[in-house]
Amino acid sequence: MNNLSTSVAYFTMEAGITPEFKNYSGGLGILSGDHVKQATQSGANTSFFSILWKKGYNLQKVTDDGTVIDVPQENELWRSYVTDTYLSFYLPIGDTQILIRIWKFNGHNLYLLDADLEENGELRKLTYNLYGGAFKDSEFERIGQEMILGIGGMIASELVLDHKPKYYHFNDGHAIFAVHKIINDYMNIYDLHLTFNDAWQKAKQVVRFTTHTNVKDGNELHSIDDLIKYKANYNLSFNQLQLLGNEDGSSNYGMTVSALHCSGKVNAVSVLHAEEANKLWKDVSNRPVIFPITNGVHRDTWQKEDIYSSYLLSNVSLLMSQHKAYKLQLVNYIKEKKGISLNPDCLIIGFARRATGYKRWNLIFKNPLSIEDLIKRYNIQLVFAGKSHQKDENGKKYLSIIHNFAKQYPDNVLFLEGYDIDMAKYLTSGCDIWLNTPLVPMEACGTSGMKAALNGVLNFSSSDGWWAEACDHEKNGWVIHSHTELSGEERDKKDAESLIYYLYTSIIPTFFDKDKWAKMMLESIKTAEYFTTERMLNDYYEKLYTE
Ligand SMILES: *Cc1c(COP(=O)(O)O)cnc(C)c1O
Repeated sequence: MNNLSTSVAYFTMEAGITPEFKNYSGGLGILSGDHVKQATQSGANTSFFSILWKKGYNLQKVTDDGTVIDVPQENELWRSYVTDTYLSFYLPIGDTQILIRIWKFNGHNLYLLDADLEENGELRKLTYNLYGGAFKDSEFERIGQEMILGIGGMIASELVLDHKPKYYHFNDGHAIFAVHKIINDYMNIYDLHLTFNDAWQKAKQVVRFTTHTNVKDGNELHSIDDLIKYKANYNLSFNQLQLLGNEDGSSNYGMTVSALHCSGKVNAVSVLHAEEANKLWKDVSNRPVIFPITNGVHRDTWQKEDIYSSYLLSNVSLLMSQHKAYKLQLVNYIKEKKGISLNPDCLIIGFARRATGYKRWNLIFKNPLSIEDLIKRYNIQLVFAGKSHQKDENGKKYLSIIHNFAKQYPDNVLFLEGYDIDMAKYLTSGCDIWLNTPLVPMEACGTSGMKAALNGVLNFSSSDGWWAEACDHEKNGWVIHSHTELSGEERDKKDAESLIYYLYTSIIPTFFDKDKWAKMMLESIKTAEYFTTERMLNDYYEKLYTE
């Protein structure tokens, strides 16, 4: 029905395609990876541009006393996933010409930029660490990386494609320096010789943007002086960068503000997220209204085939036995990793996501007595996994808190280190319940819940992100009531009461009523059919890649 032939160049800082190719840190990268796989499968004319991260993203370990430490890792198997295009180009960063090589990921139209070449000296490290860590001057490192992705990605698209894409789509603001080149080229390169203002307006015809972060602090700022010093301005003047990157004539350049100023169309990643994004950015003038295209997940990556067949046949006994088999796989996986034997006949609740403030990792422990009772009476088992950003001390605190509960209840509470695609597959098919407790409305989307839902793992979550669109309480999962009229600790306490209440009154009773549980599993899988990258990609072509 949809025509996927419009040519699009898609820019993303990370891409998680397979567990072994460690080119991602978390949600943003997995989403891009799923998008890449779907584009190939659907035959969409989208080409993807990203960076080849030689060291990927840090591993995180929690020591015995609960201290969180970041451990560097190598993306050691990268060579077996990519083919050399033999194309390369120079990119000026500051006073140095950096040589960038272009690799193609095998089997997909994903092009990866690589600065790790001897002639680049120390600057070869710019493409070592996703989100930094190789340079003392982290601002230089960040701007350099964003220049490679944005400006480098534009140059790469000219080298690898035999045509000009109709749209440039930026997955979050990291690549937005690309628009400096787009505007400059309209002013200086083509016969158009447009004024800056006309070139800026014309750029909007080709630039599309997906916003992810609804936390203002999560939206990056750079000093315009730095951008000029490192040549991220691509010939644009201080004043021109001011016009793109802010509105108050300050000397800062906001990546998201610039993206909003330069895009003809902008989407957010769920319905609620779009509402919130429009509120957050309401003071940014001359920006398009942000509309939702809810994320999806790649079905063939995340849904177990036999589960899907049983769903199609509405064969509940088969579905239940298949679920049990995946639960046993998870139990074995945990036994191997941690030496802990979970009981597959008792409820397993999974919780895996980034450890950061609004996700409230500790919400389920707000009533320690109830948790103790639930453990004693029903032997419920809680499995946690995820990483925090290196500099997010609050997030690291959550990991320490979970670590302490795990010490207290070693057979019932556990934390798995090294959350990655592989582990996510075990968890989102082997748990019974998928828990999410964000502070509504802070969640952007929450794609792991879709992976769980596709496998009949029932979501139990605050009504936020995708779940606000999908949930049908006690039919396809459960909603944790959000006391939005309260704030702070008071609100957390009330939300936590709701969480515990539904565990006692609905989730555990249903767990012992296998027929009812199986029906809910079928409903869950049915609901998730909408939340796939197939639908997402079609939506992009229908709603974003149009005039
Ligand atoms: C799906 C996935 C994520 C993103 O999950 P959210 O629910 O969107 O936070 C992060 N990391 C891994 C390894 C995943 O598989």
